[in-house]
Formats: sequence, C-alpha cells, structure tokens
Amino acid sequence: MEKILFRSTNRQSQPVSFSQALFKGQAPDYGLYMPLRLPKFSFEKIKEFAGKPYYEVAFEIVKPFVHDEIPESDLLELCKRAYNFPVPVEKLDSSIYILYLDRGPTASFKDFAARLMAQIMNYLASKKGVSLTILVATSGDTGGAVADAFFNLENIEVFVLFPLEEITQRQRKQMTTLGGNVKAIAVRGTFDDCQALVKRAFNDPEFLQKNLSSANSINFGRLLPQSVYYFKAFAEIGENSIVFSVPSGNFGNLMGGVLAREMGLPVKKFIVAVNENDEFPRFLETGKYNPVVPSKKCPSNAMNVGHPSNLARLIDLYGGWLTDLRDEQGNVIKKGVLKIMPDMEKMRKDFISFSISNDETEQTIKYVYEKYGIVIEPHGAVSIAAAIKANLNDCVCCIETAHPSKFPEKIQEILKIEPVVPDTIAKLDQKKEHFITIDNDYQQLKEVLL
Ligand SMILES: *Cc1c(COP(=O)(O)O)cnc(C)c1O
Repeated sequence: MEKILFRSTNRQSQPVSFSQALFKGQAPDYGLYMPLRLPKFSFEKIKEFAGKPYYEVAFEIVKPFVHDEIPESDLLELCKRAYNFPVPVEKLDSSIYILYLDRGPTASFKDFAARLMAQIMNYLASKKGVSLTILVATSGDTGGAVADAFFNLENIEVFVLFPLEEITQRQRKQMTTLGGNVKAIAVRGTFDDCQALVKRAFNDPEFLQKNLSSANSINFGRLLPQSVYYFKAFAEIGENSIVFSVPSGNFGNLMGGVLAREMGLPVKKFIVAVNENDEFPRFLETGKYNPVVPSKKCPSNAMNVGHPSNLARLIDLYGGWLTDLRDEQGNVIKKGVLKIMPDMEKMRKDFISFSISNDETEQTIKYVYEKYGIVIEPHGAVSIAAAIKANLNDCVCCIETAHPSKFPEKIQEILKIEPVVPDTIAKLDQKKEHFITIDNDYQQLKEVLL
C-alpha cells in the first residue's frame, strides 16, 4: 500500500505526510488536513473486531495512516499504553444502545484522542531526537485530558492555560495535581483571553526553536483515534447496519464517525445531536450557514460551540468549501464563509440533526433514570434525546461522552442523588495542586514559557 498524504481544506498548501500533519496541526494556509485517500476495511474484517481488545482494533485502523513511520510492533505497544481502560456498550431497549466513552483517566471522551496522539507524538519526537512543547488553552475537559495523556512522557513538556474563574474545581485539579512535565497556568481572564495568549506565542519568532505544538481539536492526530470506537461499537452490537447519534460541539467526534463510514463501516445515518447552538440543523434545513455568536451557554458545556471547527472538513468531504475570510496579515475578518456549496441532497440523506433544548436535556436525564435506572449526564442526554426524536426503525447507538460525576450539581438538582464518583476522579480530592497564576498579559506568559 502506498503512503497516505494529507492536503489542506484551503487548497493552497502542499500535501504532507502523517507525521508532518501531526506536528503542524494546522496547514500553513490555515486549512485543516484531510487524507487524500482512505484505507478500506471489508465487512468481514470489521465483524472480526468483536471481542478483540480495544487497543488491537485501534492498531488496525491507525496502521495504514502511520504506514512506515512507526514499525508495527511499536505502534501496537503505543496503542496498548493509550487504551488501558474499558469501552462498554450497553443495550437500553430493543433498538437503542449506549456507547460509554467516559471510562478513561479523566472521565471524558477527550481521553480517546489525547492519549493516542500523545503516545505517537512522543514516539516520533524521540525518533527525530527533538523535544516538544505542547501549549494548549482549555475551557474545561480538553486541558485535563491532554495534561494526563502527556504526563511523564520524556520528550514533551506541556503548558495548559485555563481561565482562573471559569472552570470547576475538579476540572482544575485534573491539570494542577500532576506536576512533573505538566505546567498549569491560571490566567486572570476568560477562555478567549487564554486562546489569544496561546495564539500569540505560536506567532512569536522567539519560540521557533522551542518546537511549539498545539494539541487542539483540528489536529488530524486527534481525529483519527475517534474513528476507532465506531468500528468497535458496531462490531460489538452485531447488527448489519447502524445509526449513530453523536453529541456534537466542534464536530471532531462526528468527523471520526464519518471517516469510519468512508473506510467501509456500514453506517446508515448519523444523527447530529447539538444543544441550543443550532447552526448545523439550521444549515442542513436551509442551506444557509450562520455561526451562533456568541455561543449559547447550555448544561452540555463542552458543546457550547457556535461555529464547529471540524465543519470545514465535513463540508469538504461533500464537495463544498467552508473557510474563514482573512486579511493579508492572516487575521480573521469573517468566520465560516461558504465559498462552494456542498452536495446538500447527499448530506440530507446521510445526516439528520436536532437541536435539543436545555429543558429537553434535563427531561431526558430524568426519563432515562426513571425508565432504565441509568444515570447519564447532559452531553449523553442530548444524544439520547435526539435519537428518540429521530424515531427511526433502525438500531441506534448513542454516545455518552462524559461521566455523570463531572456534573454533580446538575445530577443532584434533577435526580436528587449523588452520582457515583470513579476512583480516578475521587483521588483528585486529596492531591496537592501546583499552578502559576498570571494576568492576561503576554509578557508574563513569555517569562513562564522561557
Ligand atoms: C468535547 C466534548 C464533546 C463535543 O465533541 P466534539 O468533538 O467537539 O463535537 C461532547 N461531550 C464532551 C463531554 C466533550 O468533552
């Protein structure tokens, strides 16, 4: 098999290899990397994933992309280190299943992408004899998953920036109690301030020799691992075709599923489940794309996204072109402009999308608890609510992306019970925190980084 190269959705930059796409993150023309070709897995091969350890399935899916950049036995070992936790699928009733992606070390599905990306990046950095600095801004779950995934990896130093007042104590502790190669920086400001500081560091020539790398959701290295659980869930459920209901924010999760379908997984439809940030269902209905600005605050807070970063990839796959308008210096003038329309007819056949209100989200948490005795949290509830609304005659797999114990107040308010806290989260309470606090001031950040 020939090597898979990656091109940019903005059509200017030259194609690059897997490791280049991984280290660059974003293409120089500000586009997102897409594979020029995809491997195909036969129905028989996919069926064989049933009963196999999760890391072996990950190895099979990732192998053709990594090609000769990592020897097979090493890649298998990296997958094994990344996936050392269970990935259960549970039958809710005759046609609805729940796939639990909340059993990783930080109890969020961000672990799936972050852990394999971290292992692969560390391996490639060591092979190239370089050390890397990962700089990431977080509004919650991403920072914890990235910090944990890179913790103790010898070739990588991690700086996570978070808004001092905008995250929960458990979220903060997931970043501040690790120590070692993970440096947590609290910013007296908002999440947007943190992002702006990070962006500035990436554009600062003084950091060139520091090999700064981002770990954000547009990196193809974070996308690919998210195809794996679709294959695994399908094989375990054992039907001949399936519908997935995907709780969506930046559409990385959804895009992982769509790539899986392109690689041969018999997915009949995707239900794109969003909260009150309804730009996608409106687009699917009207063909007009308008980001929600500012994004709405909903209890499924990791999905409070008014302009999904991975939407450019989805539109690209359907023959369209979605991009930001920029001035000559590269500053964004207008976000999310459709330069070429995608094949809307095909998109409407492959996707249905529902915006789930905050009320519906709460009612669904209550309904699932009362009817099935299962505690779900707001993100998973959006996916189940959308599956119920879709009312399809197919087997539907809903995705639970976080553990209820990350939202104890909400669960207490709706169900009047305390969610069970997994060991990984409970352990945080006793651990000591270490972090530096800075003002929203680039010079202060620079001092810390240097
Ligand atoms: C990030 C996140 C999502 C949204 O996933 P996207 O890939 O951004 O669509 C959903 N649920 C949880 C718990 C998350 O952390």
